[in-house]
Amino acid sequence: MNLRQAALALLPFLSACVAQAPHLAATPAPILTAFDASQTLATPVMTLAAPMMTLPTSNTAEAIPIVVSPVPAAQRAFREPLVARADTHAVVLLYHLFGATMTSAQSLSPDAFDAQLGWLADHHVEIITAAELASFLDGALTLPARVAVITLDDGHVSTFARAYPILKKHDVRFTLALNTEAIEGHRPEAVTWDNVNEMLASGLCELASHSHIHGHMERLTEASNRREVTLSRAIIEQRTGVRAETFVFPFGGHDQRVMSLVKEAGYRAAFAVGTGRVRLDSPRWELPRKGVLRSTTLSDLAVLFSS
Ligand SMILES: [Zn+2]
Repeated sequence: MNLRQAALALLPFLSACVAQAPHLAATPAPILTAFDASQTLATPVMTLAAPMMTLPTSNTAEAIPIVVSPVPAAQRAFREPLVARADTHAVVLLYHLFGATMTSAQSLSPDAFDAQLGWLADHHVEIITAAELASFLDGALTLPARVAVITLDDGHVSTFARAYPILKKHDVRFTLALNTEAIEGHRPEAVTWDNVNEMLASGLCELASHSHIHGHMERLTEASNRREVTLSRAIIEQRTGVRAETFVFPFGGHDQRVMSLVKEAGYRAAFAVGTGRVRLDSPRWELPRKGVLRSTTLSDLAVLFSS
């Protein structure tokens, strides 16, 4: 049975679920669209890796088991009604560090993060993956009006130790942007591949490439940048069995040359930093993300999602 057949086999069950959910049954047209298997299955959050690749570093030579998420997140139905594509706006939130005692302005207390995820749920903001956002930009996926992408950059240990339990508590999907040299080098501040694979196994985690060395790509040579976009993805694929579909510029740094390389490498979209929501006509190779800081309040969050 292939994926499409599996999805079709699930339709009777899904119809039963809709029948038992009055708030969903009240909006029959969007729900039918939500269960369009051709939309959801065409854009898996995680793509199984091609055969093992040989990486140009000595410490990646051992065989790595392929890990497959048991619950492909993209097969989930959206909770909110779908709308016309032009009416959807996405806010891509950018997080870095988690810890109440850290001094960095980028460090969010776990309680604040918990409150923010609670706010998003209470205000019916649908949380999608970066791959789903790319499918939306393709015109291949219809979304609710207000959506968010939760991106966590740099693979800091606090992401696994402090943010992940809260993401699990809220059953929220998230996009982990990994710069692979830090993990391969076993830097103390970086997550381990075991951590990453544990998060993937939850079915909530999507991986994006955040380059290899985490340099300012707008200042690197073309040859270096080519390596940055390809090596990082190859290492992620070898260590996890997951192919990163989107790219996240370190420091948000990019120019036309870098964007072209990312596109050429076969990524589906790239994220920078900056203000603004993502809409159907947003620039796919420099999608804006809003940094969430220690100083960010729930009122600030409300402004981001106000219509
Ligand atoms: Zn970064």
